[in-house]
Amino acid sequence: VAPIGDQGKFEDIPVLKKVAGDSTGPRVKGKVVIVTGANSPLGIGRASAHQFAQNGAKAVYICDFNDTHLETHKRELAMLYPDVDVHPRKFDASDEKAVKAVVDEGVKKYGRLDIFFANAGIVGQPKTFTEITSDDFLHTLKTNVVSVHLAAKYAAPAMMITSAEKKYPSGSIVATASVAGLRSNAGSTDYSASKSGVVSIAQTISYQLAGTGIRINAICPGVIETGMTAPMYEAARSRGTEKKIGQLNPLGRGAHADEVARVALFLGSDESSYVNGQAWAVDGGLSAGHPFVP
Ligand code: NAD
Repeated sequence: VAPIGDQGKFEDIPVLKKVAGDSTGPRVKGKVVIVTGANSPLGIGRASAHQFAQNGAKAVYICDFNDTHLETHKRELAMLYPDVDVHPRKFDASDEKAVKAVVDEGVKKYGRLDIFFANAGIVGQPKTFTEITSDDFLHTLKTNVVSVHLAAKYAAPAMMITSAEKKYPSGSIVATASVAGLRSNAGSTDYSASKSGVVSIAQTISYQLAGTGIRINAICPGVIETGMTAPMYEAARSRGTEKKIGQLNPLGRGAHADEVARVALFLGSDESSYVNGQAWAVDGGLSAGHPFVP
């Protein structure tokens, strides 16, 4: 990989050429993408797979340890975007061998890996810090944090090797953290700790990848209506208190998965070529201040 400063002329950078030539072209044209946590019909992973496919990806691996909907998602994506290869893969995102295997498979088949969206995650235990067991705490950390570490551990070297011949090596790892990883949260300790860990991984690894051209960023969603929050939304609807969910948010509402997926697309694409090591809040402004009660 060419060291920084030795990557050709400024105008050789592909993203600049693209912006100069065809700024309306597909945003991830020809890229090979892996998305974890893609089974849930309402989830951020599935919505992101659509964004990547719709925006020109060559191949999208839709991965989850639960495969109840993966084949349906594949059929839907194939119907909407017939040029995209869609590969459903069932595995636990915190299983090291499985993560390595899907990365190896993508590289072997396509000779490249461009984007790894490490999005799989679970909600924390509905217990106080005095009640939660160490086993439960570790399970949340393994699912939410170790999975992101493994994504970076295997995706980054693959991206470096497969982009080595380009003058401007690129590759993007995106991980889903949470606003709970940025600010104190009245909810579960294990979840907040795990999501702070995801932010920390993105910050730390961005420095460890210095000079490679590979980027890593975390997305920090606020309250999004997905499979994860469906029970909360259902309970609020049945009590007639749904409006309260958005009440403390500057935009006055929660969000849909697609609003997060569009940020995953941006961070995965070359359009965000100088965004690195960041925690991007996608929360309607929730984390920008604190509730003011007159
Ligand atoms: P979701 O429950 O709809 O989707 C999560 C998916 O991850 C599910 O399909 C689930 O099967 C999968 N998954 C869980 N553990 C896995 C594992 N070990 N291996 C492989 N797949 C696994 O929820 P979502 O809201 O779309 O969640 C996506 C990400 O967004 C999660 O990391 C979550 O913590 C994060 N997030 C969600 C919200 C929200 O309000 N929904 C807010 C902040 C962060």
